[in-house]
Amino acid sequence: MNLYLASGNAHKVAEMNALAQASGLPVTIVSAKAVGGMPPVVEDAGTFVGNARKKALALQALLPAGAWVLADDSGLCVDALDGAPGVESAYYAGPDGDGAANLRKLLEVMAAVPQGQRGAHFVCVLLVVGPDGAETVFEGRCAGVLGKTPQGGTGFGYDPLFVPEGYAESFAQLGDAVKNELSHRGRAWTQLAAWMRGKE
Ligand code: IMP
Repeated sequence: MNLYLASGNAHKVAEMNALAQASGLPVTIVSAKAVGGMPPVVEDAGTFVGNARKKALALQALLPAGAWVLADDSGLCVDALDGAPGVESAYYAGPDGDGAANLRKLLEVMAAVPQGQRGAHFVCVLLVVGPDGAETVFEGRCAGVLGKTPQGGTGFGYDPLFVPEGYAESFAQLGDAVKNELSHRGRAWTQLAAWMRGKE
């Protein structure tokens, strides 16, 4: 079964492909790019679920009837910032959605925050829209702390700063395989996979 992924983020596509393969589900992730590109979506719903829904419906409108669509909306919620950047994570430093600028801004904003107060968690909402329009939502979270300097070269976004609970290295140092095991996206996917298996 094809699962059309409503994302223009190549890193998310790669992670979702790896997660789908590791789970052994009989699904093929088809990126929006493969079907003409992800249409622009204004992410102004104010919630992860609302933004995910907007992405899913925007892509579904371009697909033949009967397609299954998957959208991911995710972000980093920082305790010392009352949950910011949260749903605004992709646009924290401005409307360009520049990941490096977002990371720099977070570093600056957090510079004076002491070690014991640098808790944060990632959230990932996966929203599946079936051929009949029915929506199913899964949410995964991953808690950790923010380092003082970016470390590591894998992953994307805030990965060089995020050290997951129980580890001493950032997501960007731990590498894709470890990240996918414990990440917010990996945890949401595990739930999605269990749900899909229940439908087989
Ligand atoms: P959106 O879901 O397209 O609104 O964007 C999610 C944003 O949250 C990304 O642009 C990143 O800034 C951040 N983010 C989400 N998941 C991850 C992750 O796994 N690693 C690092 N940053 C992430």
